[in-house]
Amino acid sequence: MIDMLTVITGPMFSGKSIELIRQVNRQKIAGKRVIVFKFSKDNRYSQTEASSYDGMSTWAIPVTTSEDIVARVEPDHEVVVIDEIQFFNDPVIELLLGYVQQGKEVIVAGLNLDFRAKPFFFHGGTRTMADLMVHADSIHALHAICTYKNGHICGLPATRTQRLRDGQPVSSDDPIVQIGSQESYEARCIRHHSVPQAKSV
Ligand SMILES: [Zn+2]
Repeated sequence: MIDMLTVITGPMFSGKSIELIRQVNRQKIAGKRVIVFKFSKDNRYSQTEASSYDGMSTWAIPVTTSEDIVARVEPDHEVVVIDEIQFFNDPVIELLLGYVQQGKEVIVAGLNLDFRAKPFFFHGGTRTMADLMVHADSIHALHAICTYKNGHICGLPATRTQRLRDGQPVSSDDPIVQIGSQESYEARCIRHHSVPQAKSV
């Protein structure tokens, strides 16, 4: 049986893009016609610049909305692949389920949780990875390694993404999406994931 919808999910540093590339390579070996997208806040970036941002190979087309995807997918594309799906808008869900109905294989990778360990809502919307996972034939739930240090590195499986500013955990009222700002991130296990409550005003 062919996996028509494959979802790769987990925190930052869990190898989602690497698994996505592995899946794409398998499809290419099989001779399938594959089209690969990655999210870009600014789709004027060249493909090379987009790839240096996170290491995705240069064949990923930088796009911003589901409309950008519609404009580029052709009838004879057999496999549609999208990295960083959580940054797209809600309509991308129905679009991808529609491709599956048409007989295309769909492979996506993205964050399940935001830095607070709450479901990561798609851009400006109400949908999450869960809306794809319920339809998935194959789910790869990846873990990173907790890099919390207290004399030594924790090293336990990490299911969460820790956001830090100046080395300290940011509070729960920090904006969800912070592209290109000065935050840093670490993978953390549940015990070492920290989100201080915002101070009440
Ligand atoms: Zn830990």
